[in-house]
Amino acid sequence: MELLVRLPAVQAHLLRDRLARHGIRVFLLNLHVQGAVGELPPEAALAQVWIDDARDRERARAVLADHEADARRADGVRFCPACGEDNPASFELCWGCGAGL
Ligand SMILES: [Zn+2]
Repeated sequence: MELLVRLPAVQAHLLRDRLARHGIRVFLLNLHVQGAVGELPPEAALAQVWIDDARDRERARAVLADHEADARRADGVRFCPACGEDNPASFELCWGCGAGL
């Protein structure tokens, strides 16, 4: 098991489906804390996508990059490189964690 990325739960589910189509098995953890946003640091409120087999790491990262590029094209959002939160394309700082976009 190896942590691939932290994402909002909706994105984590989409990414899991995409990875499954590439034959990469993952587990989603930390889905239950979504309701606690605001009481936890932003990163703690994100779902975690874990790769079952670390040998899939490079392929999984390529799929993740495709996923993020598609998401940006789809609705003009930018993913925060620090916490994975999506932000309106006009934002220069992440609303979730304040990192530069
Ligand atoms: Zn962020």
